[in-house]
Amino acid sequence: MERVGGLSGAGTAFQELMAEKKKFQAIKGTRDLLPPETELWNRVEQMAREVFGTFGFGEIRPPIFEPTELFARSIGMDTDVVGKEMYTFTDRLRELDWPKWTFSDFKRWIHLVDTFVQEGKIPRFRNEDILDQMRATVASFDRDLNGAPETDDLRELRDLMEQLILGDSLTLRPEATASVCRAYIEHGMHAWPQPVKLYYMGPMFRRERPQKGRYRQFYQIGAEVLETLQPGQGGAKDVPKDATVDAEVIEMVMTFFARLGLEGVQLEINSIGHAAENCRRGYVQKLKVALEKVKEQLGPDSQRRIETNPLRVLDSKLEREQAIIAGLPKIADHLCDDCKQQYAEVKRQLGLRGVKYQENWRLVRGLDYYMRTTFEITARGLGSQNAVCGGGRYDGLVELLGGLPTKGIGFAIGEDRLILSLQHQQPSREVGPRADVMVTSSGEQTWQEAVRVASSLRQQGLVVYMPNPGTRLNKALESANRQKIRIAIIVGESEMAAGKYVVRILRPFEEEGPRDQQIPTNRLLLYGRLAKLRNDLERKVRGLLGENPQSFKGEGLGMILQRLEADKVLPNFFLRTTLKEELRDLVQILNRALHGSYLTEGSEEWALVVGNLVLAELDRTKTPGSEDAGALQ
Ligand code: AMP
Repeated sequence: MERVGGLSGAGTAFQELMAEKKKFQAIKGTRDLLPPETELWNRVEQMAREVFGTFGFGEIRPPIFEPTELFARSIGMDTDVVGKEMYTFTDRLRELDWPKWTFSDFKRWIHLVDTFVQEGKIPRFRNEDILDQMRATVASFDRDLNGAPETDDLRELRDLMEQLILGDSLTLRPEATASVCRAYIEHGMHAWPQPVKLYYMGPMFRRERPQKGRYRQFYQIGAEVLETLQPGQGGAKDVPKDATVDAEVIEMVMTFFARLGLEGVQLEINSIGHAAENCRRGYVQKLKVALEKVKEQLGPDSQRRIETNPLRVLDSKLEREQAIIAGLPKIADHLCDDCKQQYAEVKRQLGLRGVKYQENWRLVRGLDYYMRTTFEITARGLGSQNAVCGGGRYDGLVELLGGLPTKGIGFAIGEDRLILSLQHQQPSREVGPRADVMVTSSGEQTWQEAVRVASSLRQQGLVVYMPNPGTRLNKALESANRQKIRIAIIVGESEMAAGKYVVRILRPFEEEGPRDQQIPTNRLLLYGRLAKLRNDLERKVRGLLGENPQSFKGEGLGMILQRLEADKVLPNFFLRTTLKEELRDLVQILNRALHGSYLTEGSEEWALVVGNLVLAELDRTKTPGSEDAGALQ
């Protein structure tokens, strides 16, 4: 974070820094996400929007930094996140530019800062003392008041200046639940139709020790359901409704993972009761007593937690503590009647939604406002950092942040880990999108028309490759061939005069016709849409077969579809005989049309409509090997 940037001009250090040839690198724990991997990120985010949308969630995009106190209050002062991991910096009031490097300006500046302290714009605490010291220092240098002093003389002042708190304490968000609750209160969402269902996605920041699946800038996709209590609401009669919300939120995450084809997903659930004597508080006391008895056998972290947060001892991953923890009292035996009933109802609701789960009594959250349902989801291929999602109910949080009594439940998915797990099950060999067509001109005169053709095809969603202007035609065709582009559209002068474009098929579509043809200019867009549909279909079915979707093999789409069918990857929808025949017709029509064969009237339009329906249906189909993904088969 910038501290006293304006001062750097004073010495030679700044010039030296600029002169030095510096190799910039991404900061430890952060990374650049690059293509083609970003395609997967986009697919994951798109799927989240789609699935969460079907559950009635809307997107919220809160800011990336917030007042430090928001996180301190909601996450808790004695957590690692707040205690050690936050990126916190002091903002500087806009009006407080740095002083010029003269005593007189320092004097003016100290006065200005003092005014802001008096006006309450910056804190009095600490600042007043420092300002006094600065004034004393300036006074001792009064002999040289208007001169341009030596840098050394000012070092003392600068040191003091760096200690001033010149604005609010801000923090890069380590998570987003606090922001969502802050926004809920700020925008009066209690007056919106209840419950309010929001999802978010974006970067979070924690100063953790980087390792595989653990970064300092990482990404979360999360959702929250918030509901302000209406008069007469709350208490035991709400139990079934709350349990339904919990189960539906969990079902939503599991549906999302299943739709992505994520393998080896395991859901663990628990109930941690609520903060009352006859429930969690009573349990924690018993737990503390039991922990005191085994204290000597525990490591230093757990020993400390007996005092600060005994529940967190249950979180311990230390091998030698496992047997001891297994013998500790379990919360399930100490839940009050309402919490017990709620937990039973959540399990019943998960069951009727077909969501498989395991109970894990050690799944806890260390803060008072967390209550009842907690859950965690793990996935394969992640080593020790295998949690891809954590969530739970937090009915007291909005009130803690100054809002009305409001129920809440939510989760956060670690997107980096989700992507790692997806890559682990299907390593990507893609090298960026393959162009659908190449567009070029046979000479300079027609280049402008070629640019127009490319532009209108791009508007139809085609990926278009254009060689540099002036590239000789055979060089351009060679380049297209190397890029495995199947179709070249060439704008030639004489053909254009006759209202046509030249089309060359560089790699045939199942030998369904001639490789050179001329298409009327007014057929260009239809032709382009057919070409795109044909490519999209092939990419999608190759992907479903576990092949590199961008790969180009001799095998035609008809054959690939047959293999899909034989491998039983196609959903039942496609296997009904009539549809199978229609699929075959579709492929044939596309292949012939692209080779320029004459087709009966309307058949191309039919192909476009049916083909796009098929594509949409294939998009809903899971990738191979996802049979055990989630529990929603
Ligand atoms: P939490 O907000 O701590 O409950 O974390 C929710 C999820 O975010 C975890 O299950 C992880 O998948 C992910 N996550 C948390 N911290 C990190 C990190 N430093 N790097 C990558 N993913 C993280």
